[in-house]
Amino acid sequence: MGDQKRRAGIYLIGLMISVSVAGCGTDQIHTEQAAQVPKQLSGKIVSEVSEVSPSAPAGDDKEITAVETRRFYSGPPHHSPPPVGNKIAYLTFDDGPSNSTRKILHILKTNGVTATFFVIGTETSEGKSLYKEIAAEGHALGNHTYSHDYNRIYKSPEAFIKDASRLDRLLEETVGFRPEILRFPGGSNNQVSRKSGGRGVMSKVTAKVKEQGYQYFDWNVSSTDAAAPVQDKDMIIDSVLSASKGKKRIIVLMHDNTYKTTTLEALPVVIRKLKAAGFRFDKLQKSSFTFQFLEP
Ligand SMILES: [Zn+2]
Repeated sequence: MGDQKRRAGIYLIGLMISVSVAGCGTDQIHTEQAAQVPKQLSGKIVSEVSEVSPSAPAGDDKEITAVETRRFYSGPPHHSPPPVGNKIAYLTFDDGPSNSTRKILHILKTNGVTATFFVIGTETSEGKSLYKEIAAEGHALGNHTYSHDYNRIYKSPEAFIKDASRLDRLLEETVGFRPEILRFPGGSNNQVSRKSGGRGVMSKVTAKVKEQGYQYFDWNVSSTDAAAPVQDKDMIIDSVLSASKGKKRIIVLMHDNTYKTTTLEALPVVIRKLKAAGFRFDKLQKSSFTFQFLEP
């Protein structure tokens, strides 16, 4: 009798938890705010569950529901998946630093978004400051080769590594670490490389890069901002949104380039719409989801 009452009570609490969790799922909230939601939730859920758990009968289905809910939401905030779905967007900016870098950083900061910059080599003090600012603001720095010169880098796997290592050394001097992540100029399946390295050079280069300890990232969503010198702003927005549909992990290709002003104009809208579509944002690291046109 009393047992039944208790089970009903546990079930009710379980239900309340489910309802409160579901209520947060559709919020279009900024990442900064989102990070705090699980913390608040976990505190509440843990205390509610701990009130009933000690006396709850073993082997009861309702109890399992409550305990599983607690396990799911009691982790540290930055490890907690969002309440509904788990879609991640990795925004990537190639070819910087440029005069647009600070503007991109400002937009990312304003929107509470972390991203990845695949940079090239520059020895200017401004360029070095920008490497530092990218890292200091918590974004990932990735290797996009020092020269970005197709004729030079795709001559052979050794030539590629020589050029990429030069950027690694520069970044190590400037920001204190060597990137483990890399993006090939033109992508891992580019055809331009054949001119200097012959057919099949990309298979050798991708294998060499893996052997050297890098992970490389192509993209599964193109912003199309490289398809024209200054791409139409709405075209950028529409391209990202339509290519993101039906995907849970997206690596979005964009460019950090002084002249690509529409990328900057589109960026806040892209972020807002991806958030509305249920994506959270993260930076790439070696162990992240990757998308490769050509696998080694
Ligand atoms: Zn590039």
